[in-house]
Amino acid sequence: MLEQIKIVLVGTSHSGNIGSAARAMKVMGLKQMVLVSPECEVDAQAIALAAGASDIALNAVKVSNLDEAINDCRLVVGTSARSRTLSWPMLNPRECGELFAVESDKSPVALVFGRERTGLTNEELQKCHYHVSIPANPEYSSLNLAMAVQTLCYEMRVASMARKAAEYPEHECGDYPRHDELEMFYGHLEKVLCKTHFINEAQPGQVMNKLRRLFSRARPEVQELNILRGILTSVEKISPSEK
Ligand code: SAH
Repeated sequence: MLEQIKIVLVGTSHSGNIGSAARAMKVMGLKQMVLVSPECEVDAQAIALAAGASDIALNAVKVSNLDEAINDCRLVVGTSARSRTLSWPMLNPRECGELFAVESDKSPVALVFGRERTGLTNEELQKCHYHVSIPANPEYSSLNLAMAVQTLCYEMRVASMARKAAEYPEHECGDYPRHDELEMFYGHLEKVLCKTHFINEAQPGQVMNKLRRLFSRARPEVQELNILRGILTSVEKISPSEK
């Protein structure tokens, strides 16, 4: 299960951090690293800091945007040192470890880390179901990237070992949509809301972000998302004369 977890590093600029993150992952039993538009190479410094985990850094998949990294994932959690303007469903590191231990049994899942200096953008954070923050010193809360990877991978390992020891029966979790299916729904919703003029295309405001937050909180299952898509299609089918 730990092997199903993708550690996604967005816009990393120090190659040493890629190496240290690879090491942090391997000691906890994780394997899949994805680099989104890295601003450095997996160079000699990365390999040196990876020590015995250079295979993870060398096998890291490189993609150009976050969607590409998470399209096949049914659970996406973003990490952040501080709370942002639009508050989002939050997990603490322990809850995050437990959720990944449960859901990575079934399908690919992703934990997303941000840039060393600026973290993740609001747009990137809004693509996540939950956010997790390591409760650090409020006056100095930003960990080094690889240390944040270490802390959260440790929680995943602890939770996964506890599950194994307890020999839980296979978890009955809902059948959640993939990230790309969710994005298609948001695209469809926005299109319909523009057509009905609920959203003013010239001044769209925060409506879509707030709706994303609402659906992230509700976490619709595949069947529920199909119902919502069906509702949107039924709205689209009403001819102008019936409106
Ligand atoms: N100034 C940036 C900090 C970036 S630190 C900001 O405010 O977001 C680089 C990355 O390390 C972050 O994007 C996040 O992925 C991770 N990180 C650092 N401190 C963290 C913390 N306390 N909790 C969770 N993730 C953290």
